Formats: sequence, structure tokens, C-alpha cells
Amino acid sequence: MTTDHSPGTDCVIVINCGSSSLKFAVLPVVGEEVLIKGLAERLGGPEAVLKIERDGESARISIPSATHRGALQAAIRHMNGLNPRGIGHRMVHGGEEFTDSVVICDDMMAAVERCICLAPLHNPANLVGVRTARELFPELPQVAVFDTAFHQTLPPKAYLYAIPRTYYEELKVRRYGFHGTSHHYVLLETARLLDRRAEQTSLITMHLGNGCSACAIRNGRSADSTMGLTPSEGLVMGTRSGDVDPALHQFLQDQTGMRLGEITAMLNSRSGLLGLSGLSNDMRTLSAAAHDGHQHARLAIEVFCYRLAKSVCGLMAALDTIDALVFTGGIGENSPQVRAMTAAHLNLLGVVLDDARNAVHGRADKGSISSPESRIPCLVVPTNEELMIARETLRLIS
Ligand code: ADP
Repeated sequence: MTTDHSPGTDCVIVINCGSSSLKFAVLPVVGEEVLIKGLAERLGGPEAVLKIERDGESARISIPSATHRGALQAAIRHMNGLNPRGIGHRMVHGGEEFTDSVVICDDMMAAVERCICLAPLHNPANLVGVRTARELFPELPQVAVFDTAFHQTLPPKAYLYAIPRTYYEELKVRRYGFHGTSHHYVLLETARLLDRRAEQTSLITMHLGNGCSACAIRNGRSADSTMGLTPSEGLVMGTRSGDVDPALHQFLQDQTGMRLGEITAMLNSRSGLLGLSGLSNDMRTLSAAAHDGHQHARLAIEVFCYRLAKSVCGLMAALDTIDALVFTGGIGENSPQVRAMTAAHLNLLGVVLDDARNAVHGRADKGSISSPESRIPCLVVPTNEELMIARETLRLIS
């Protein structure tokens, strides 16, 4: 791989650290095009590998037994000619402690640790990323961007569960919402495309990737989200069930003897599109199979779209007016079929897609995929969480 680059380009490193993976991107301070992106996987094991893309070339580097630190050190070797000015970290759960992105300091780290009970898988991994980056770049300012922060504007009527108050008061059991960085970015992009001020824009945004959530945005602020205490609530996702009857755990335990942890694992990793189809969690695979007559794949897509449309109708309760319905995420940006099947359930709201615009993902019409007679404009707006984290980092360090 070529490592030549214009010397001394000022940049921001964006890090998204999982328990055994580290995803990163390097973006310029001026401009929006990703300079380098990479993914280190299976960290800590013999098959640890770093995949890295720069200047249109890609490399796959074996880094056996490397930790997060080893992976980041290997990645840094490919950053010659770049001047990192700051580092932005994706953080999953900020609880009620964080309503905005923050510059990382020791007090802030302690506050994220207090949120670990709310995201026991994600927050410790995110903190490993922060600690590693602070060790390797002690001189650089670092910023945390929370998935939950954008949704801290939810009113109590949207965030309270109808369970005894004491669980909220003592344990902070409430709805938080996730994918906030994506919904926020898509709001700003949609406002730009519609030529409106973000503070005066009301939308329902649908982030449909492996994880899926929809958000009601009222005058530029999140007013409700389909996700809750954890990212498991709400829509049907790749491997997650989304909403189920709260009595399901008890029923399955009584009938099968499964333990609570096993039921939770089943709902998280063997449900959703994968569980319904028995085939795959990948929408491309399911669309192709459904096209070839696979009945369960077809039904999985139907459930996915129907449940999404039903949630959109529910989120309308949070709004007085709506400027657009917006699709984003891998599925939302790329599947005309999912968009059309979802819109078909929103007939009563006057949603009408334009087949030709939908087929090309709105690319010919500033994102628009609806027909002129649609009562609600519909758009496809590609998300860019890395860019949003880089922008937030620059905003806070400059
Ligand atoms: P993540 O949430 O991990 O960031 P993505 O946003 O990349 O995931 O979304 C992944 C999903 O997008 C997968 O279900 C994948 O099948 C789907 N997807 C990507 N491209 C297409 C496509 N052309 N048609 C349908 N689905 C697609």
C-alpha cells in the first residue's frame, strides 16, 4: 500500500472501540473525505487482523495476539504525512450524565464508568479505546461523542416506563435512545437539503443498519426514539427482536427452563431478521432469497417493514408538524424494496413514493424519493457518523 500523502495534513482520528475490535477513521480538518479507514478484529486472539484502506488501496495485516493498543500502534504506522489534531471517540451510553459531546478528562472518565451498569458490554470497551489513545497520544485533546446525548431532550412522558417510579429514581431505569450521532447528522443534512434551519425542522428519521431505530425530531431536538434503556427496544433489527411482550422471559423460562441470560442472548443475537428467516441477518441475502421464493425470508422483510411503519405512526404523536420522513443506514440507504414496503403501510398518512426516484435512492433529486402528491416528503439521506464525530471533536477542541 502507498503511504505517500500530502505532508502534514491536519486531521482528526475517530475511534469506535468494541470489546474485541477497533474501528477507526482519519478525516481531514478541512474537507470531509475520509483519508484512512480501518478495522482491527479478533483482538487478543491468534487471528487478530488489521484491515486498512488508504488512497484507494487496501491492506490486510496480521497482528496475532495484538491488544487494542497493538492495533492502534499498527494503525499509526500508516498515518505518515498526517498531523492528528485531536481524537474523537464514539461512546455508547452517557446515561443522564451527558447531554452533549465533551472533552475527555479524568472526571468525565469516572462519569462514564458510572454508566457502565447501563451498557455493560459497550462502555468498558469504549473506555479501553479512550485509555489506549490517551497513552499513545498524551499530547492530543480527546473528545467523547455519545450515542445517547442527542436524545437527552426527550420529555419525561417519552422517557418514563410505566413501572414504579422508584426504579427510575434509584436506578435510572428509563428510555435513553441510541444512534443519536446518526440521527443528529441526518437532521443537519436533511435541513440543508430542504433549505431549512435545523432548529425549525421536524422529521422522523429511520436509521436502518444492523441495529435499527427511528427518531421523532421536533424543531431540531429529539422528542422520542424507538430505542429504550438499551438498544434492544423497538424495531426489528438484524439479530435483535426489538419489542416483545414483557412476559416473554417468564413464559420461556417456565416452558423451556432457559435461564434469563440465555433468553436475553437469544433475543439479542438469534432473533430479528435472522430469527424470522432462519437464513441470515443481512438484508441483501434476504431480498435475493425472497426474490427466489424463500417464504420465510419474504415474511421476515414483511415483519421488518410493517413494524417500522407502525413505529413511524407511533412517533407521529411526538410531533405537531413534519417536514420529511428520512431513511438512512445500510438498509435505509440501499433498499428500494424496504422503503416501498414501509411506505405502503403509511398510505393513510398520505405517503406516496415515486418509483423511479426510489429506485435510484433519491440521488437525482436531492434525496427525494416521494412523488409530488405525497402529503409527507420522503428522503434518503446517507448517514456519516465518523464525519459527525470528527466535526464534534473539532467544535470542542478549537
Ligand atoms: P451497521 O449498523 O453495522 O453500521 P450498516 O448501516 O452498514 O450496518 O447496514 C448493514 C445492513 O445494510 C445489512 O443488513 C445489509 O444487508 C444492508 N444493506 C447494505 N447494502 C444493501 C443493499 N444494496 N440492499 C439491501 N440492503 C443492504
